[in-house]
Amino acid sequence: MFNSLSDRLTATFKNLRGRGRLSEADIDATVREIRRALLDADVAVPVVREFTAAVRERALSAEVSGALNPAQQVVKIVNEELVEILGGHTRPLSFAKVAPTVIMLAGLQGAGKTTLAGKLSLALREQGHTPLLVAADLQRPNAVTQLSVVAERAGVPVYAPHPGNQGAETDVVIGDPVGVARDGVAFARDKQHDVVIVDTAGRLGVDQVLMQQAADIRAAISPDEVLFVIDAMIGQDAVATASAFLEGVDFTGVVLSKLDGDARGGAALSVAKVTGRPIMFASTGEKLTDFEVFHPDRMASRILDMGDVLTLIEQAERAFDAEQAEKMAQKVATGQDFSLADFLVQMQQMKKLGSMKKMLGMLPGMGQMREQLENFDEREVDRIEAIIHSMTPAERENPKIINGSRRARIARGSGTTTTAVNQLLERFEAAQKMMRQMARGGGMPGMPGGMP
Ligand code: GDP
Repeated sequence: MFNSLSDRLTATFKNLRGRGRLSEADIDATVREIRRALLDADVAVPVVREFTAAVRERALSAEVSGALNPAQQVVKIVNEELVEILGGHTRPLSFAKVAPTVIMLAGLQGAGKTTLAGKLSLALREQGHTPLLVAADLQRPNAVTQLSVVAERAGVPVYAPHPGNQGAETDVVIGDPVGVARDGVAFARDKQHDVVIVDTAGRLGVDQVLMQQAADIRAAISPDEVLFVIDAMIGQDAVATASAFLEGVDFTGVVLSKLDGDARGGAALSVAKVTGRPIMFASTGEKLTDFEVFHPDRMASRILDMGDVLTLIEQAERAFDAEQAEKMAQKVATGQDFSLADFLVQMQQMKKLGSMKKMLGMLPGMGQMREQLENFDEREVDRIEAIIHSMTPAERENPKIINGSRRARIARGSGTTTTAVNQLLERFEAAQKMMRQMARGGGMPGMPGGMP
C-alpha cells in the first residue's frame, strides 16, 4: 500500500537534501510535487488542497528558514500534516459502562465486514473479552454461513437465524435483520458476553433500502460503536460512499480494509478528514491476524518510509513465546552460543508472524528495497527449515563439523541442493560473526540471521 505515493514523496525530499536555504521557489516546487503525488494516489481534491496549503504556509515560515536543516524541517512538517489528516490520534474502542458493548458494522457488500467481524472478535478475545457475533446480514444467502465460518476460526460463538442455532430462546423470523440484531444483543446480555459485534448487510452500491435497514438496526440496538468498513482499493469513490453512510447511518469510526493491496491509498488519506470520523482499525489481509489498530502517526511514518517499528514489535510480541524470546535476545546480545538450532527456532517464530514480506516492509528505508522485497520467496524459509532439520543435533550446534559429503547428504535429505546448504552455512557464519561484533560494540542487534 501507498507504494507509489511513498516513492514520490521520498524522491521529492531527496531533491531538497543538502540545501542550506530554501527559496520560496524551492518550496513551491516541492509543494507542487506533493500535490501531484497526492492527486495521483487518489486523495480527494479538497483534502489535497487543504494539505498542501498548510504545508506551504508552514514551510515558508520561520519554522523552516531559521532551522539548521531546512529540508529535514519540511519532512517534519509533511509528517505532522499527514498525521493530522489521518485523524491526529489513535482512537481506541470505547466500551460501554454496562456490558455488553455493542459494535455494529456497516459498509458496502464486499467491503470486508464479515472478515473484520472475525478479526475484531479474535483480537478482543485475546484481550480477555467474551465477544459474540451476530449475523444480521440476511441479504446474501451465504452471509450467515460465512460469518459462522469466520466465528469458528476466531473461536467465538455466533448468534444466527439458523434453525439449529435459534433454539427456544428466540422466535426470530428469518429475513428480519432488525429483529435478529435486537435479539442477538439481548442474547449476549443474557449469556453475559461483554461485547457483541453485529454484522449487517451490504449492497454493491449505496442504495436507499440498504441505508434505511442499517439505520433501523442502529435505532433498534443503540450501538456504542458503529464501524464503517471501507475497501481502501475503491479510490476516488471512497469519499462519496463514506459521505452517504455518514448521512444515512452515521458512524463513530472507520475501518480501512484491504490495505495490503496495491491500493493507491487515497481512501485512507481522505476519509478521516472528509467525514470527521477517526480511522480506528486497518485490515491488511485475508488471515484473521491481518489486523491492526490504526495509529495515524505510525501510518504517516510508513508513508514517508520512516518505518513502523512499533507495530512490528507489537506483532512480534503477539506471536512470540516471551520466555524463548528473552533467551534468544540474550544469546544475540552476547553473541555467544547462537547455534543453527536457535536459528531454526527463530525462523519458526518468524513464520508464526505471517508474511516475512509484510514484516520487512515495516522497517525504515525498506521502500528503497521494494524490488528485493517483492522478489522475496516465502518458501525460502521452508527450505532453510528443511536443511536444518536434515542435520544432526551436533551439527546444528557446531556447523563447522559439516564436511563435503555431509553437505551432499543434507542436501539430499532436505530435497535441496549442495549450493543451498553451502549458502545457508555461509550466511549463518556471517550472521554469527556480525552478532559477535555487535555484542562487542554494544550496538543494538538488528535482525539476526541475515535475511536471505
Ligand atoms: P463483506 O461483504 O463486507 O462482509 O465482505 P467480506 O468480509 O466477505 O470480504 C470480501 C472479500 O474481501 C473476501 O474475499 C475477503 O476474503 C476479502 N478481504 C476482506 N478483508 C480483506 C483484507 O484486509 N485484505 C484482503 N486482501 N482481502 C480481504
